Amino acid sequence: MNVFTPGAVHDLIENPMIGNWNYILFVMLPGLVIGLWAQMKLHAAYRKYREVPVDSGLTGAEAARRILDNAGLTAMPVEEVEGELTDHYDPTKRALFLSSDNFHGRTIAAVGVAAHEAGHALQHQAAYALMNLRMALVPVTQFASYIYGGILLLGWFLGMMKVMLPIVIVVFGIITFFQLVTLPVEYDASARAKEQLFRLGLVRESEREGVSKMLHAAALTYVAALVSSVLTLLYYFGAARDNRS
Ligand SMILES: [Zn+2]
Repeated sequence: MNVFTPGAVHDLIENPMIGNWNYILFVMLPGLVIGLWAQMKLHAAYRKYREVPVDSGLTGAEAARRILDNAGLTAMPVEEVEGELTDHYDPTKRALFLSSDNFHGRTIAAVGVAAHEAGHALQHQAAYALMNLRMALVPVTQFASYIYGGILLLGWFLGMMKVMLPIVIVVFGIITFFQLVTLPVEYDASARAKEQLFRLGLVRESEREGVSKMLHAAALTYVAALVSSVLTLLYYFGAARDNRS
């Protein structure tokens, strides 16, 4: 794929983002569209399945508790956290945090999301290699995200984009690699969640489709983020290659 005309490289050097049509058409716009599409899919699925009661009558918190207890993680706290879809597993605190709706909700969405977060706790307990890698990458990725915007701005203002492009590629490459590692970790957490939900009888076989659709929609947002980053990275690579020629 070569969408990088010499003119575009000149634009990139002068102006890395704004007003650069190749960047807007082939990187920014597709990234934006796929990101919005994934968000819409997630919110549509969430709106639907937060209205569908789960047969077992369990809350998200209770379902997570059952999964954790069954795995011997009886001391792991399941706590309520503010916001919508703010659910997460914190490996440093070794605790589960569920948004109020999913903590208290007795719905397919609540139980599905809660089980997914419990799935991350199971990964941690099992020392799942990709999760360990992801955790090890967190500090360097945080640093890369922190300096990325500054490097772009500095390169642009000083007119040194050409010189700084290799640094930009390394820094953004770290961020993209982190997203790449995150993807299988997310799918694996959902797979573990579903396995436990059915094995422990927390949801019925007839509810499988709903749980799967809800978790699939959540995972799509990670796919969208990765696609967007890969496009950006390809763009930087193309610009760097054209710089040399
Ligand atoms: Zn997750």
